[in-house]
Amino acid sequence: MPDTTYEEAKRCPKCATPGRDTGTTTRVKGGGLLHNIVCVNPRCRWYNTSYVVQTNPDGTVPPPTLDREKSFRALPARSDESVDREMQNLLNQQLR
Ligand SMILES: [Zn+2]
Repeated sequence: MPDTTYEEAKRCPKCATPGRDTGTTTRVKGGGLLHNIVCVNPRCRWYNTSYVVQTNPDGTVPPPTLDREKSFRALPARSDESVDREMQNLLNQQLR
């Protein structure tokens, strides 16, 4: 059983106040949905800022750790090795 419900996931990442569902959704691969939520807490830094909550086709919410892994993997366009080498070259130049 997933231990994260949609109601819990709707909470603002900054202030933990349940946000307002704007009704705007984006369909993602596999049939899940991305819901646009807006923070409604005027004292929050994210007041009126929208954030996204993903739900699975069955209405459950994927654990946040899985989300982070996915978005992390999608980021690097080049292989880690070539980036490492470049960084090392830059470091070497600075040391000289
Ligand atoms: Zn907030």
